[in-house]
Amino acid sequence: MPETLLVRGGTILTMNRAREILRGDVLVEDGAIAAVGAVDPGLLPDAAIDAREGVILPGFVQAHVHLCQTLFRNCADDLPLLEWLRRRIWPLEAAHDETTMRAAARLGLHELIDAGVTSALDMGSVHHYGAVFDEGGRAGVRLLGGKAMMDDAAGGAVPEGLRESTRSSIEESLALCSKWHGAGNGRLRYAFAPRFALSSTPDLHREVVRQSAARGTLVHTHASENAEEVAAVRRAFGKGNVEHLADLGVLEVPSAIAHAIHLGEEEIDRLRGSKAGIAHCPASNLKLASGIAGVPRLRRAGIPVGIGSDGAACNNRLDPFRDMFLAASLAKLRDGANALPAWEALEMATIEGARAIGLEKVCGSIEVGKRADLAVLRLGTPWTVPAESIASAIVYAADARNVEAVVCDGEILKERGRVLVLDAEEVVARAREAWGALTSRAAVS
Ligand SMILES: [Zn+2]
Repeated sequence: MPETLLVRGGTILTMNRAREILRGDVLVEDGAIAAVGAVDPGLLPDAAIDAREGVILPGFVQAHVHLCQTLFRNCADDLPLLEWLRRRIWPLEAAHDETTMRAAARLGLHELIDAGVTSALDMGSVHHYGAVFDEGGRAGVRLLGGKAMMDDAAGGAVPEGLRESTRSSIEESLALCSKWHGAGNGRLRYAFAPRFALSSTPDLHREVVRQSAARGTLVHTHASENAEEVAAVRRAFGKGNVEHLADLGVLEVPSAIAHAIHLGEEEIDRLRGSKAGIAHCPASNLKLASGIAGVPRLRRAGIPVGIGSDGAACNNRLDPFRDMFLAASLAKLRDGANALPAWEALEMATIEGARAIGLEKVCGSIEVGKRADLAVLRLGTPWTVPAESIASAIVYAADARNVEAVVCDGEILKERGRVLVLDAEEVVARAREAWGALTSRAAVS
């Protein structure tokens, strides 16, 4: 890491409390933001990024992703959620070994960095999560994540390779937490990840809440994604999905809930003022025909909502630009054309996303003292000009081709439009090889 890095010139979307937009430089010292705006012109930094024609903004926060599913891109389409899980995703996840897991993680990490993402909250599969942390650490991103916890076989739908006891699920999670939480200069953080109410027992949830409270870690889960799932939760527990999580104590510790589409009024009341954030996954919700989350309503209730891609198996991209576009557009379809303007989608992809996954003190805005997680965009391309409204240009028109540079924790991950930390050709070659190995092992129908 360069000791001093100067991101020179440009328009700075600080996303600070006052949402200031400044012109000037961002100075980074030892991975932290040391100055924003005017920086001594005589300063000789160890490294510099020329952003004079560009826009400097906080690196995007990916609020919900499954890196392990990046290899399942384009192979599990046109199915509803529970069938999609049972027929394709769980058998493929069960077939992963450490080598294929690394290949999946690298493929996903390359795509995220290329598109300006610096932080991601990842839900793993049941096994081999150490490989994902190892690859995230090498790539230099800020990665929160944990192994999926699945101690309930969901009536036999979970394949043998993913089944685990409550005890082994907790023990494996704790071992990963001890090894990885705080590693990589604090960039890697553990998140306990009970997959969803139908695959994780109440006992497991209670223990996860205890462990998270003791360790200061996040809980990450899915809830209220699909009407069939909500009905099954009601049959099993006699209550709504979020009510179930609330009764188990999950909302009393920092937690991030993916989807939250089908919620009753009393569930929104229980989320309000709790420690939970929501990861809205518009592309996945559309493609799996899950429904449209009431994002403006959740935000009005003061509940932080970030934007997630979910897995490549249901998106099929890990592209924050497309997800921001869809978040804004879906809100309009549900609540009218003036719902969720571009600026608000941009907030969700940066500072509010950081709040939704418990990182708001670390990143998500460009402020002195925060870690230097930045993206530099060039908006002078034929598909983005005139960029009168910068937020509109970013949310509705731009894509990864506009991402000139990416910095995480003061380290340059992408520069002059090229990802430095992972080689695209090698990532693709390994992904193809790993996909071959996976399909020879997986029992998909
Ligand atoms: Zn998910």
